[in-house]
Amino acid sequence: MNDQQLVEKFPLIKKMQNTEEVIWFNPNVIKTEDAMKHISVTSEMVQDASDRLDRFASYLQIAFPETAKTNGIIESPIMAIPTMASAIKDLFQTDFDGELLLKCDNALPISGSIKARGGIYEVLKIAETLAIREGLLTQTDDYAVLANEKMKQFFNVYSIAVGSTGNLGLSIGIMSAKLGFRVTVHMSSDAKQWKKDMLRAKGVEVIEYAADYSKAVEQGRKQAENDRTCFFIDDENSIDLFVGYAVAASRLKKQLEQLGKKVDENNPLYIYLPCGVGGGPGGVAFGLKLLFGDHVQCFFAEPTHSPCMLLGLMTGLHEKIAVSDIGLDNKTDADGLAVGRPSGFVGKTLEQLINGSYTISDETMYRLLALLVDTEKIQLEPSALAGMTGPIHLAKQGANLQNATHVVWATGGGMVPENEKVAYYEKGRRYFKF
Ligand SMILES: *Cc1c(COP(=O)(O)O)cnc(C)c1O
Repeated sequence: MNDQQLVEKFPLIKKMQNTEEVIWFNPNVIKTEDAMKHISVTSEMVQDASDRLDRFASYLQIAFPETAKTNGIIESPIMAIPTMASAIKDLFQTDFDGELLLKCDNALPISGSIKARGGIYEVLKIAETLAIREGLLTQTDDYAVLANEKMKQFFNVYSIAVGSTGNLGLSIGIMSAKLGFRVTVHMSSDAKQWKKDMLRAKGVEVIEYAADYSKAVEQGRKQAENDRTCFFIDDENSIDLFVGYAVAASRLKKQLEQLGKKVDENNPLYIYLPCGVGGGPGGVAFGLKLLFGDHVQCFFAEPTHSPCMLLGLMTGLHEKIAVSDIGLDNKTDADGLAVGRPSGFVGKTLEQLINGSYTISDETMYRLLALLVDTEKIQLEPSALAGMTGPIHLAKQGANLQNATHVVWATGGGMVPENEKVAYYEKGRRYFKF
């Protein structure tokens, strides 16, 4: 299909080309249990990941003392943000029913973003597999032994490679280096300088590219191809990453129960997930659909300049289409979302499950960033605000949001240095002056 035919078949593309904020509802959604029949990822695989993270808890408490207060479990808080809810209703002059909650993955220990879920999980799985294979560990051991110098020397024979826009590099880099692995992060041009500096300070090799994310991933893959001691963490295709993210669902379920939030036919749950290549938000959405079925609706949120997942899902072309194919430049300050071509694995897995996807401009993300500081004293990085306009879109489209619980997934910001935080905030405030 050429450009013209695409626009004829999918008129929304015209608006996307004009970088307008749009929402797309997925016409291919079917009942969750029917959709699951065509999916190779299973609840057993997610449970296996959850069990593995439990096995590592005693090690993580030693390696990262900040995880001691959650007994070595890497999890983030959830909180109601009523003042922010009022503020965004005012800002967009749109009311919506239901309570607004923030899932604070910016506060995840170790690397301060959603990547502390999948990214760290996959590194741990590699470490466990190697140590068991060499007879240095069994599943019933206390994994605290992994903190020993001897283990570090063992892992140092191996290396880990990854391509990233920044946050995945931070997660993989910090975790791998701590275990003793040699690690190389291939960084795209969008990656922030401070993220590169932080990794280098931890002994991680950072290779920079002038090109975007897809190129960085390709280079990582190439590095590992000819080296049997090198493991490539494939952000575009990894099932391990995906199930690591999916573990978030059972944790969220418990948190909602603790808050007294019901989720059923009359009390729908809406989740808004900032989306880059798709693994993080896709994994979380998948896990939630496994647990809540049709009672949860999940939406992806992407920058107006990088709506790769929306484009891939809507056209059914998945990884065979990129935002450049419709003339978009993939330039956004939301560095975690600066991805031009979606994961085909994630798109195909979720094509009958995900409820929709919408876009948000950088300006809106910055405004919301400043507003969240002013109303709730929480500071995120720009990407992490993308979920915030979800309830507004749905209300404008006339969705029935009665008794709804809205969860905006705040995907990152915990590692942002103080001076960068101030700059983000001031940029957001400036947009209110006009
Ligand atoms: C990576 C990232 C996302 C999106 O995750 P993907 O797996 O790339 O879709 C969202 N927000 C932040 C802050 C991120 O770093």
